[in-house]
Amino acid sequence: MAENTSLHLAVVGGGPGGYAAAFLAADLGLKVTLIDPELNPGGVCLYRGCIPSKALLHVAKLIEESHQAKNWGVEFADPKIDLAKLRGWKEGVVQRLTGGLGQLSKQHKVQYVQGRAGFENSTTLRVTKPDGKSESMSFDRILLATGSRPAVIPALKIDSTHMIDSTGALDLKDIPKTLLVVGGGYIGLELGSVYAALGTRVTVVEMLSGLLPGADRDLVLPLHKRLEKMFDAILLNTTVKSLKEEGGGIRATFDGADVKQREKVFDKVLVSVGRKPNSEIPGLEKTQVKVGPKGFIQVNKQLQTDDPAIYAIGDVVGEPMLAHKASHEGRTAVEAIAGHKVAFEPHAIPAVVFTDPEIAWAGLTETQAKEAGREIAVAKFPWAASGRAITLDRPEGLTKLILDPKSERILGVGIVGPGAGELIAEGVLAIEMAALAGDLELTIHPHPTLSETIMEAAEVFFGTSTDIYRPKKA
Ligand SMILES: Cc1cc2nc3c(=O)[nH]c(=O)nc-3n(C[C@H](O)[C@H](O)[C@H](O)COP(=O)(O)OP(=O)(O)OC[C@H]3O[C@@H](n4cnc5c(N)ncnc54)[C@H](O)[C@@H]3O)c2cc1C
Repeated sequence: MAENTSLHLAVVGGGPGGYAAAFLAADLGLKVTLIDPELNPGGVCLYRGCIPSKALLHVAKLIEESHQAKNWGVEFADPKIDLAKLRGWKEGVVQRLTGGLGQLSKQHKVQYVQGRAGFENSTTLRVTKPDGKSESMSFDRILLATGSRPAVIPALKIDSTHMIDSTGALDLKDIPKTLLVVGGGYIGLELGSVYAALGTRVTVVEMLSGLLPGADRDLVLPLHKRLEKMFDAILLNTTVKSLKEEGGGIRATFDGADVKQREKVFDKVLVSVGRKPNSEIPGLEKTQVKVGPKGFIQVNKQLQTDDPAIYAIGDVVGEPMLAHKASHEGRTAVEAIAGHKVAFEPHAIPAVVFTDPEIAWAGLTETQAKEAGREIAVAKFPWAASGRAITLDRPEGLTKLILDPKSERILGVGIVGPGAGELIAEGVLAIEMAALAGDLELTIHPHPTLSETIMEAAEVFFGTSTDIYRPKKA
């Protein structure tokens, strides 16, 4: 395939997909224009997603640990929260990173245009600037990285200052006395944990029978148990029938077999019921781009849409809606545009829930294997047998490997416990490198660390774990 490095590429959307793509394209020699409504690149992830939520979760963890320290003979006074300072710190983190991306755009010689783009045709965009003026710009290729926004349930959409979405929750305007979180997915649980640590009495309502649908139940259980202590209530198999503004709050009506209290008033209600792709781009109908039934832009393995001049990546093309998936797709799309022979075909895209404990998984889950009727072996190492976990007073963790019983190949890894989000990277590498259980067993891991639990899970598979005694079968 010929190199196409003299092309002019427009990247629409400056999130982790868009800016990663723009910087690589510039490095490969393409002329690049990056278009986004914000002053600097960053997208949802940096301005109102991954980064601000993790900054606040860091504070939440500190507060929770300060309570737990009592058990270790160290007692702290109850924390005093200076909300303006906390908000300022979080905003400082965002500004530092987005400002850095602005600098990097200049260093990569990417032309950054602050504005919102719509299509005039497959290769011409009309970009509306913050002052309302618009400009027509033509390109050889266009890469769409327009991301996603919070989904809304029409029946629960009421106009009230007591209603917030994830963006409103991260704004941290106040610390409500009570908060109802609608949706037991990762965003609701992460933000619910932040508010609970700051002193809010949090109730989570989830219509399914468990939190974090999609994750294996044995990984969710330790988190569920800890959240039961942190939160006022976790209502499963429950739907919110209606929300009504009342006095200084919102009256929620619940429905479901397990419901004990049908109605309750909350100071604030956070609706976090998933995200919707931003595929309603003005003028998209003037191109050959096709949008699927769930609103995702359809692409092939090179991230090319049905319009040969237009590529698309990130949340706008499908699940999992995660920043690292977006950036890797962005890099693949740019290489494809540059004429390299590439395809986006990962064996594993890690998912991390940054609660305390964290939950992380990659590759095949036990649930998926069961649904597909696939024969697997599962090797579990409970952290109660990990020296490092005991020193941290966190014995509830678990590391498990999902393996092919015949080839002994690692197909999936699941971890629950503090730091699971960091530990999972080894699992992703093992899956991508087609590692066998023996590879993990023979890799010397440092002691005492939580990373040893991955090696020991492989030892469990062979029945030779140093720290777990299993009597030999007669
Ligand atoms: C509270 C929260 C926490 C999260 N935490 C994590 C996490 O810990 N880890 C993780 O991996 N993911 C997390 N996510 C998800 C993550 O933010 C997204 O998966 C990621 O940002 C997607 O990147 P993207 O490049 O596809 O688009 P986005 O980051 O959504 O960026 C798209 C950009 O395009 C712009 N845009 C849209 N339309 C146009 C247009 N017509 N013209 C110009 N620009 C346009 C948007 O304004 C936006 O700036 C979180 C999300 C939320 C809401």
